[in-house]
Amino acid sequence: MRIRFWGVRGSYPTPMHPEVLREKISTVVQRIRPRDLETQDSRERFLAGLPEWLYGTPGGNTPCIEVRLNDGTCIILDAGTGMIPLSRALAKEKQAPGSYHVFISHFHYDHIQGLPFFGQAYHPSIHMHYYSPVPDLEFILKDHMQHPYFPITMEDKMTKNQFFHCIDRQQEVRIGNAVITWISLNHPGGSYAYKIREGNKTFIYATDIELCEQDFDPAGSKRLFFNEADALVMDTMYTLGESIEKYNWGHSSFSLGVEFAVQCNIKQFFLFHHEPNYTDKQLYSNLHAARWYAQRQKSSMIIKLAEEGTVINPGELQTS
Ligand SMILES: [Zn+2]
Ligand SMILES: [Zn+2]
Repeated sequence: MRIRFWGVRGSYPTPMHPEVLREKISTVVQRIRPRDLETQDSRERFLAGLPEWLYGTPGGNTPCIEVRLNDGTCIILDAGTGMIPLSRALAKEKQAPGSYHVFISHFHYDHIQGLPFFGQAYHPSIHMHYYSPVPDLEFILKDHMQHPYFPITMEDKMTKNQFFHCIDRQQEVRIGNAVITWISLNHPGGSYAYKIREGNKTFIYATDIELCEQDFDPAGSKRLFFNEADALVMDTMYTLGESIEKYNWGHSSFSLGVEFAVQCNIKQFFLFHHEPNYTDKQLYSNLHAARWYAQRQKSSMIIKLAEEGTVINPGELQTS
């Protein structure tokens, strides 16, 4: 199983403002010393030494994650605007998949607004499978893609090979050699986490979740679902202070997320659904605070910021 982040930002797309880009360039220029420019090696060393918030960006697209199973099967977690660059990348693949399996965490705009622009879904030979525990899955998706919200409909223009799977709790979804299960999350209107197990590796996608006290119960359903995952992507939108201010908004702080992941003995933990108001610098500062917080709990869990373009393999532990 190989996982790639295409959209990591919460709530709404956050393209980089020209002012922010200018500030980044200006800060980099101020750091250059003449000897940094002398050779190709020195230039590369200089760039590699820049802080991650300056040289890169986590990206501004809303949630979309690609999961490729070992046999090449393509699972897509959420259909935020990250689904648009995913579609472009798939169009360049020589042997792109003929079927896509799209699991929707819930139907807030940031999790479905890329779907109308997923070019593959318009090709008559492509098979599109949609999954959710919500019985109205088909109605909701078709309803949001019609006049006056969008000029064309799923029924008229997209492939006729579209299948809507409402999954219930007893039912495991089997796709290729993978087994997918789900659990409901605390979020206004509901949201669902998906666990993908292939071979002996487990990956969990849990976005739009406000962790609460009972989630920490060692015998509770949440702990049993999350325990021992090789990689967990979790909504850690806020700082602790902001999560208190925004109690009941349906998102977690990174510190509570770390605490939960440590208790579940997660191996790799990815901070996700980044607050659109936070600067890149603030997001990376949250990452460092999260690592410090895990170390204080004597945990060796690897913690990373979900960034567009990052590829992870839950079977291979990476150092942080
Ligand atoms: Zn969201
Ligand atoms: Zn939401």
